[in-house]
Amino acid sequence: MKIARIALAEGKFYASVKADGYHLLLGDIFGEWGELSEPYRGEYRLLPPVDPSKVICLGANYKKHAEELRLEVLPDPTIFLKPPTAVIASGEDILYPLSATKVDYESELAVVIGKRGKHIPEEEALDYVLGYTVANDVTERDMQKKDGQWTRAKGFDTFCPLGEYLETELSPDDLEIVGKRNGIVVQRGRTSDLIHSVPQAISFISGVMTLEAGDVILMGTPEGIGELREGDLFEVEMEGVRMLANRVKKEKA
Ligand code: MG
Repeated sequence: MKIARIALAEGKFYASVKADGYHLLLGDIFGEWGELSEPYRGEYRLLPPVDPSKVICLGANYKKHAEELRLEVLPDPTIFLKPPTAVIASGEDILYPLSATKVDYESELAVVIGKRGKHIPEEEALDYVLGYTVANDVTERDMQKKDGQWTRAKGFDTFCPLGEYLETELSPDDLEIVGKRNGIVVQRGRTSDLIHSVPQAISFISGVMTLEAGDVILMGTPEGIGELREGDLFEVEMEGVRMLANRVKKEKA
């Protein structure tokens, strides 16, 4: 099942994505819900697929990417946070901050949590997943190097575009993630090359902080990172399907 979120005049709704359009889902998407049989025919605006309480990211989770950034691969996952205010939908603009000098794209698998959990064992971790989408972990690379920690570099508004919908029936073990800048493939990775797997990440993070339904985990980016400039279009595909596209615009003063 594919689940998106859209804004109508009546409010914000989850919807299943089908060949004939969006079918609104009524109730609690993390609990009991029902689906309207007819597709929605009115005006709508696409929203990020969830409204997370937090976005937790893994750094240097592909060996070759760690090498290109000369980051040490440690036994425990390196985790950091992006604020929920950084989240934008596919089709919205990535704003190039006024204070930025080098803004990079990072194509990633995004895991959306389906129910609250703490100290989740690895063997049960996938039971806590609602679905998967893609993300762009947009990063100000000069600030990341300069600051010694990554909150500013990773936390600007619009620096967390999330895919158009979640895919609920997938195994995260071996998914192809592709990043395209202006139509040209610049990143291609498989989640089978992740240093820390999705179950390991969920178990590790939930040992630190409670995971809430709707929280998002970004699994790290494969090699091939590079810069975004004003006017660029950046797209992320999963298994050959385009799920995210954002244009870069200069932030207004
Ligand atoms: Mg990243």
